[in-house]
Amino acid sequence: MQFIDLQAQQARIAADVEVRIKAVLAHGRYILGPEVAELEERLADYVGVRHCIGVASGTDALLVALMALDIGPGDEVITTPFTFVATAEMIALLGAVPKLVDIDPVTYNIEPQGIEAAIGPKTRAIMPVSLYGQCADMDAINAVADRHGLPVIEDAAQSFGARYKGRRSCGLSTIGCTSFFPSKPLGAYGDGGACFTEDDRLAARMRQAMNHGQDQRYSHPRLGINGRLDTLQAAVLLAKLAIFPDEVERRAVVGNRYTELLQARGARSVKDASDGLLTPHVAPGYTSVFAQYTLQADDRDAVVAKLKAQDIPTAVHYPIPLNRQGAYAQYCCPDCTPHADRAAARVFSLPMHPYLSAEDAERIAEAVAAA
Ligand SMILES: *Cc1c(COP(=O)(O)O)cnc(C)c1O
Repeated sequence: MQFIDLQAQQARIAADVEVRIKAVLAHGRYILGPEVAELEERLADYVGVRHCIGVASGTDALLVALMALDIGPGDEVITTPFTFVATAEMIALLGAVPKLVDIDPVTYNIEPQGIEAAIGPKTRAIMPVSLYGQCADMDAINAVADRHGLPVIEDAAQSFGARYKGRRSCGLSTIGCTSFFPSKPLGAYGDGGACFTEDDRLAARMRQAMNHGQDQRYSHPRLGINGRLDTLQAAVLLAKLAIFPDEVERRAVVGNRYTELLQARGARSVKDASDGLLTPHVAPGYTSVFAQYTLQADDRDAVVAKLKAQDIPTAVHYPIPLNRQGAYAQYCCPDCTPHADRAAARVFSLPMHPYLSAEDAERIAEAVAAA
């Protein structure tokens, strides 16, 4: 059994991918070719915002967004310790301080009231992460940001396709950033990412930042990077986008099936209990794209070992929160984010992809409950 089965999807779109890749080979515009512009237009439509800027990875999306907002030395950006490292990494890379605020123990996303308490004179932006495929509480976060005149960057690397009160992830704040890493909900066949915004000025700045700060050839008014999305990856993503809405639905079916099967075997919702085997909670008004289907268990490592013995792969996202990582400990108080610490010690994720069969889900749920 595979943790993420990309083969089933490949078989479904193989013919379309081949046609699109051959078209790129025929026109030969490998850098910023027509597929990139076409994809940007389709993605902007899908999210429901004016601008999409394709970039080379989710990490570059975060970097380009921060650069467009002029984040630099002496600045603070508020974010979560319970995320993939890139979130805080790009803040620190620009010489700014990632200020870590604890998570809500039910959703695993940054807690809006904690953000308000952490805002100080050096705060320049707020960067929530929509972890595991469910958006952070963006209305509450935007309300805090508005009170203090701060921009909000949603790290939506895991939530592309998710809905929040009827709107789509990536279109909920000043800038939305996502990743097309192969295992993400919308994945390429290599690295890729995108930034989204309604703001014309920020869109122009991000477009420059991802291409050496260039406004026209050999004219560089701003600093930038080589952070362009490859034409070949855009071609693959155009083929994947055609089946993406269906895949988002299938992901919800698989996630809800897991929850039903596990609760029928004694698991409780993370909303209703704090120990034992806990299933994820998708809050009313939210949908999840289940980038990960993540449970909690009291003795996580033992459960994971028992599943491994039955050929059921699992993963832990993330075993060490950023407040306990060597490169980030200098920025934060190690013991100030207890919910993140507790989650890091208890979470594990089950195999998750749109093509996971009902039989496999049954076998996995049975094994988890027995373990
Ligand atoms: C995957 C991920 C990133 C980085 O995306 P890449 O495309 O791998 O650079 C950033 N933030 C979060 C939350 C992620 O899950």
